[in-house]
Amino acid sequence: MTERIESIAELRKKLARVKAGGQTIGFVPTMGALHKGHLSLVRLAKKEADFVVVSIFVNPIQFGPKEDYQRYPRNLDKDIALLQELKTDLVFAPSENEMYQTGFTTHINMEGPALGMCGKTRPGHFSGVATVVAKLFNIVQPKIAVFGQKDLQQIAVLKRMVIDLNFDTEIIMAPIIRESDGLAMSSRNEYLTPPERKKALALNRALFIAESAWLEGERDVTKLLNAAAGVLAETPDVHVEYLVAVNPETMQELTGKHEHIAIAIAARVGSTRLIDNLIMG
Ligand code: AMP
Repeated sequence: MTERIESIAELRKKLARVKAGGQTIGFVPTMGALHKGHLSLVRLAKKEADFVVVSIFVNPIQFGPKEDYQRYPRNLDKDIALLQELKTDLVFAPSENEMYQTGFTTHINMEGPALGMCGKTRPGHFSGVATVVAKLFNIVQPKIAVFGQKDLQQIAVLKRMVIDLNFDTEIIMAPIIRESDGLAMSSRNEYLTPPERKKALALNRALFIAESAWLEGERDVTKLLNAAAGVLAETPDVHVEYLVAVNPETMQELTGKHEHIAIAIAARVGSTRLIDNLIMG
């Protein structure tokens, strides 16, 4: 039976007992509206730790004022049923008040990997992510925490935070889970109308075109990006926010020839903002 806890104090008490019994804790932070991508993270956490905690919290401070915080899909009962099927040990689903008490003022500000890409187009986003994950790490104190490659820049940011602030938690990256036609699974895919859903395939097609050039031996970053850009440009109503080649660990933008790169895309399809990436080499 998956236990559901909403209070930080109660969660701390419960996890103290789990640790006293010698079990290791694995943690999967999410914003809910769970899909198979999230569930793959839970499965990986179960392999890596004895007791798995999944948090479900739509974190207000990582959304910009004009973003989709209000309309973000919320479906706690369905999420808990899915987690129950996986025999997840515990779901932590705090209220906004429980996480951010009146007078909340402390934020983590990061440079380095947080500056480019989504850091540029979503000011304050990674500060909100780092702050909530630091809070959750302090509350749960997990041995390992699993995050998806889907949010590659988020992983780079959080790995840096763990080093810089001496968290005793190992971050593990899980691969991107895709729909059968290649679209990266995302809670935000729910926003897409059927015609938009078709156009959204331009993101993964662009990445796969670049990957086939890579597999044929192309190492020039500009040529790989041009191949991807061609696919995006030929799809109407796909508005590219960024298309970059970066070092997969530092998020530093690359030019010239490289043996280990990530190509990352953010684009709007209608009013929906989607991201995707591929690591090569
Ligand atoms: P979110 O609920 O969108 O904040 O995502 C929670 C976690 O699930 C993050 O670590 C994401 O990177 C991960 N995730 C989201 N979509 C996918 C996917 N398609 N494949 C693998 N992991 C994913």
